[in-house]
Amino acid sequence: MQKYEKLEKIGEGTYGTVFKAKNRETLEIVALKRVRLDDDDEGVPSSALREICLLKELKHRNIVKLHDVVHTEKKLTLVFEYCDQDLKKFFDSCNGQIDTGLVQSLMYQLLRGLAFCHNKNVLHRDLKPQNLLLNRNAELKLADFGLARSFGIPVRCYSAEVVTLWYRAPDVLFGANLYSTSIDMWSAGCIFAEIANAGRPLFPGNDTDDQLKRIFKILGTPTEETWPGVTQLPNYKPFPIYHVNTAWQQIVPRLNNKGRDLLLNLLICNPTERMCADDALQHSYFNDLNPNMKA
Ligand code: ADP
Ligand code: MG
Repeated sequence: MQKYEKLEKIGEGTYGTVFKAKNRETLEIVALKRVRLDDDDEGVPSSALREICLLKELKHRNIVKLHDVVHTEKKLTLVFEYCDQDLKKFFDSCNGQIDTGLVQSLMYQLLRGLAFCHNKNVLHRDLKPQNLLLNRNAELKLADFGLARSFGIPVRCYSAEVVTLWYRAPDVLFGANLYSTSIDMWSAGCIFAEIANAGRPLFPGNDTDDQLKRIFKILGTPTEETWPGVTQLPNYKPFPIYHVNTAWQQIVPRLNNKGRDLLLNLLICNPTERMCADDALQHSYFNDLNPNMKA
């Protein structure tokens, strides 16, 4: 680790502390992430280490590049490409205003990164604005990919904050254990609405029940007809019957009809009907996307 000069702390995440640092030889600026694991006696599980190393091969312009994995004593340091800010910080700086072209471009990049990973069978499982990084040219990069799989879905942050439920799919909230790529697509839908609303979260629930209630109040309460098998999920419990709220004009006032259609296809409670990343990229919402973006 002598190779890097630590500059400043940039974040306290779910799994540890992130520092900005400089490679002493190449002068390249990087982000160092020290991963702490709960049972520190055990050190780093070899299964986690194997999976993390696979992530080095996950190379795409919309995925934060993992340069290196350094395993010393019982600690693990991940060396990532450095980005200027995360989407949460960007929202804080945009004062409730966001250009519609930028909404489209950010969403396209998010879906393109997701499609790449999903096609390689890598899930994210903890997508949220803090895990989406932006650099100066409004290039979006997914961070923390595959970490949830290697280390388990976080319940608490390293900083003891409870991990947010706001981006969790209803199937996960009901305790579904057969996780598939569809759980990331739900999160992408929530993030899409949040981007379009310049940082106002769509479903800011306080606990699992409140989270599900907020979802059903807008999308309607699922039934065995709309979602076969829902009542058999491990943590299923009945909710009041809410009907679909059709006031999308108020929910996402700045999205056009096509954008709203894409959003509704991502926010489908039944995971088997939720749109996948490849299909979402082909959606007509992106027809008038700046051609430079698609290149
Ligand atoms: P965790 O998995 O523990 O949540 P993250 O990788 O999300 O950790 O990092 C926590 C925060 O640190 C992020 O929300 C972001 O603000 C910042 N950060 C993480 N990686 C980078 C990076 N490569 N470049 C710039 N900032 C980063
Ligand atoms: Mg994170």
